[in-house]
Amino acid sequence: MNAETQRDCPFCAETIQAAARVCPRCRQWLSFRSFRHPVVASCVVVVPMIVFFVVIGLAITRYFERVFNPPPYYTAHLGSLRVLDSRLNWVEKDKETNIYIIGILTNESSIAWRALEFECRFYDSKGVMVDASSTGSYLTIQPNDESAFRVRVAPSRPAADYDSYKLSVSTARNTKTQF
Ligand SMILES: [Zn+2]
Repeated sequence: MNAETQRDCPFCAETIQAAARVCPRCRQWLSFRSFRHPVVASCVVVVPMIVFFVVIGLAITRYFERVFNPPPYYTAHLGSLRVLDSRLNWVEKDKETNIYIIGILTNESSIAWRALEFECRFYDSKGVMVDASSTGSYLTIQPNDESAFRVRVAPSRPAADYDSYKLSVSTARNTKTQF
């Protein structure tokens, strides 16, 4: 055999044909100029496939987001649900003490909201916050309408520590939302 047409495999040192793309002894790929080379195949096929599935996955996520949690979002309408008037009652029943806050809520947006979350901050006589609560409510409030509500809070301190409170709606979902 002519030495010009032969070379040594860089992986196993076996003398092989110079034009060989795969070493016949150790089966190592010696040339990148083939789609059958595992590295080339993964770049040409696997990487675009991963990109494709990521793009499809994002599109599906967006679709479900639009179907199950469609806009408008309350974050774009912050402050449109306002507590017009409220009062706080301490209720002791069966050795359990609860704070009940009842009031009237107004919806100043043109969107019907549901699954409201009330945030309440309680202050002592010096104006220092002593307690806080976040309470979910199933009530639905129609556009430009009013609704009565009641929020129950389990106090974490004796009644004497509570002097004033501030109640607001922290979040809500529009009525088209599924969950
Ligand atoms: Zn070899």
